[in-house]
Amino acid sequence: MFTNSSRALAVVCTLSLGCGIHTTEGMAKTLISDDQEVQLGQQVKQELDKQGTKYVTDPEVVNYVRGVAQKIFVSASKDRPGVNWQVHVIDDPKQVNAFAVPGGSLYVFTGLLMAADNEAELAGVWGHESGHVVARHSARQMVDAMGLETVLGIALGQNPNQLAQLAGALAAKGALLSYSRQDEDEADEYGARYASAAGYDPHGLITFFEKLKKMEGNQPAFAKYLSDHPLTEDRITHLQRFIQEKHLTGSALNPERLQPVKQKLIAQARAAGVQPATLR
Ligand code: ZN
Repeated sequence: MFTNSSRALAVVCTLSLGCGIHTTEGMAKTLISDDQEVQLGQQVKQELDKQGTKYVTDPEVVNYVRGVAQKIFVSASKDRPGVNWQVHVIDDPKQVNAFAVPGGSLYVFTGLLMAADNEAELAGVWGHESGHVVARHSARQMVDAMGLETVLGIALGQNPNQLAQLAGALAAKGALLSYSRQDEDEADEYGARYASAAGYDPHGLITFFEKLKKMEGNQPAFAKYLSDHPLTEDRITHLQRFIQEKHLTGSALNPERLQPVKQKLIAQARAAGVQPATLR
């Protein structure tokens, strides 16, 4: 499934629980339990609420975004059973971003929905973000950034200051630290695989990335996603090769399903006097 043996081993470890701690995923698993991941996710959500994060409540938008994610979770749940996946849409047209919190809570900013051109691109993003949870990158990233003791304290509600800092960083830039190149490649592979399994064109993530690259120069909001999820030509090439080697199929793009939601969000942003990132 992967181009080098260490990454293949890492994924085997994700799939067969309890194998050695010599892989990065294995390490994260021994550092934070599933229950602690869930507690951490709940604390982060509470803090985001406390800090006044604005969520989209329009059922047409939320149900649509969740519906696409549900199709991806069918595959993600096979790779990591027992995750209670949650999807939240943050009302921020200027942020083209999405992030995953340990425990299985995925967040997307409305700016990303407005930047996507079809449902396959959104499906790819959900596949990528759920891949970060399946491979336990999200938990490891937090431990790397804050230290194990602090992260466990946050999960138990004992580190209010660090929790506030963490939630603030997530709301402002969708991440605390950048993921490593290897984590990104791996999450991209999950993204293409899950999108394909749900019947979508697995190249959705690639067309989305290429658009971000093109927009990067003149739009700071696009640069932000790229700094959280570092993107290089190599990364696109890696994903293209992966799709070819694995013979990933799927052709659904469904632009007509995304468009009404996207147009509604753009109209709402304009009515609120906010110029969406995509239209600058
Ligand atoms: Zn990523």
